[in-house]
Amino acid sequence: TSAVVGFLGLGVMGREMARNLAQAGFTVRAFDIVPGAGDALRPFGVEIVDDIPAAVSDADIVISMLPDTPQVDDIVQGPDGLLANPPRGKLYVDMSTIAPEATRRLSQQLAAVGVTMLDAPVSGGPVGAKNATLTIMVGGEADGFARANPFLRAMGTTLNHVGASGAGQTVKLCNQLICGINIQAICEALALARAWGIDLAQMREVLLGGSAASWMLDKLGVAMIEGDASAGFRIDLMMKDLRLVLEAAQKHPVPLPATALVATQYQNAQAYGEGANGNQALFKVYDRLTGQ
Ligand code: NAD
Repeated sequence: TSAVVGFLGLGVMGREMARNLAQAGFTVRAFDIVPGAGDALRPFGVEIVDDIPAAVSDADIVISMLPDTPQVDDIVQGPDGLLANPPRGKLYVDMSTIAPEATRRLSQQLAAVGVTMLDAPVSGGPVGAKNATLTIMVGGEADGFARANPFLRAMGTTLNHVGASGAGQTVKLCNQLICGINIQAICEALALARAWGIDLAQMREVLLGGSAASWMLDKLGVAMIEGDASAGFRIDLMMKDLRLVLEAAQKHPVPLPATALVATQYQNAQAYGEGANGNQALFKVYDRLTGQ
């Protein structure tokens, strides 16, 4: 019989990751608080269950892909959570992006009931999730990393154990700091070029061939230029990540002036009603600032 995965959170990322686990041959029992969130996964053999205990109790490994720290707190500490219902396999991998400190606290609480928790946030976006090409940054005990490996391999191509509990989240926050500032830089360049009557699509091509090339210019640049605001990685989630970065930089004081400025621009985008749209909608703030 195949190993059992309890999967919690079937949003933009989680639904693709759960499907890839099922297609790799694992038995996947999945739960999302939104009824119907997992319906499209049934044809791939994912069992959609009605509550957390039904997903986790008999699982060899529990994986979560939730929005933020409070939701992860809930599935660990809540009345139905992992502390009250330790999974059979005693292994829990949280792949959401949450606060490193919260991760450490939860991993200590779970260790007290014999459950090993890893933090394993990802980079690569919805396309990486779909194609199982995510980069996965793992914090926690080496033994847990070894046990989680076959499951992580079904979702990503680059797996790195980067340190003790919380280290995966810290590396992911550094990733988000670079992405956020890069997205803002691209918005500024596109706004300036537009004001000077430059062909933006051609400029993107030109810049991709030089030293300003980046994943964001490549992937998000097209959506910015074409005004396609559909959600991939939502503005609200990046704002959450920049907040986590700034909180981390208060705990161990490090001045992050560029991150702080970019966070303000993301707040502007939220105030303009772009929160549920993808990060390329940050460029829409410039439609207003430049009267376009
Ligand atoms: P999402 O909001 O689309 O999905 C989250 C899902 O969790 C939703 O379906 C929601 O209903 C469900 N949920 C919330 N509380 C729950 C609970 N208590 N129990 C069960 N399910 C619950 O978000 P997403 O884009 O899939 O991102 C998930 C995480 O991954 C976030 O931390 C995000 O920052 C991170 N991330 C996202 C991307 C991306 O490009 N979208 C890339 C890398 C990392």
